[in-house]
Amino acid sequence: RVRITGATKKFGDNVVLNNVDLEVRAGEVAVLIGPSGAGKSTLLRCINGLERLTSGTVEIDGVRLEYRERSLNHMREHVGMVFQSFNLFPHLTALENITMAQVVVGKRSKSEAHDRAAKLLFRVGLGEKANSYPSALSGGQQQRVAIARALAMTPKLMLFDEPTSALDPELVGEVLQVMRELADEGMTMVVVTHEMRFARQVADHVVLLADGAIAEEGPPEIVLDAPASDRARSFLSKLQ
Ligand code: ATP
Ligand code: MG
Repeated sequence: RVRITGATKKFGDNVVLNNVDLEVRAGEVAVLIGPSGAGKSTLLRCINGLERLTSGTVEIDGVRLEYRERSLNHMREHVGMVFQSFNLFPHLTALENITMAQVVVGKRSKSEAHDRAAKLLFRVGLGEKANSYPSALSGGQQQRVAIARALAMTPKLMLFDEPTSALDPELVGEVLQVMRELADEGMTMVVVTHEMRFARQVADHVVLLADGAIAEEGPPEIVLDAPASDRARSFLSKLQ
């Protein structure tokens, strides 16, 4: 469970998040939508401590995020993040990419990490690509390796920042399918995406962020199909 209370983030004079309250319960999928510059990525980065809130709090499973190194490391063990760019190590194979973090963080022995990586590659449909380097994988395959790498740490929460935006359209589906399965298995997820079909099918909760504040939130059928605010209507009309 994630609870964000009074989250404000400023970069200099620029107020990027303005007093945002948000709760995502265990097993829920929250989809964050909103115009460019609304603060979606910043909010995700504040949830896992990549950015520091100016004021307000982030709590994950009742533990308040503090910005000391030990607390950040502890939290990052439980929160996986997947970015638009896949960020795989180019000189490591798919399997090695997934193995490495587990060993570096000291979570598992090399052979345990290896076994786990192999299982996760199967789970994301890439069992036969274990020894392939990222350059030999499609964008959709690379992104699935990146998801497997995040899952290797056994996170309680997964954050996705436009995971399919850099992909050719025909590769989007395979990545969304993996995310859909994760959601079905009960993973708690916060997903920034422009994929409205995914939001409709998978989200429990849709949050429209505009100018650093929540303009609208609720179940997808309300926020996407019957939004109350002009702000939401105008944003959604541009997506169709
Ligand atoms: P997009 O849909 O384009 O990804 P976004 O909703 O993710 O947009 P953010 O990346 O969170 O938006 O950015 C929100 C605002 O914060 C922007 O005005 C951006 O310029 C500013 N911003 C983000 N990161 C920084 C930073 N490290 N330093 C200064 N300003 C920043
Ligand atoms: Mg962004």
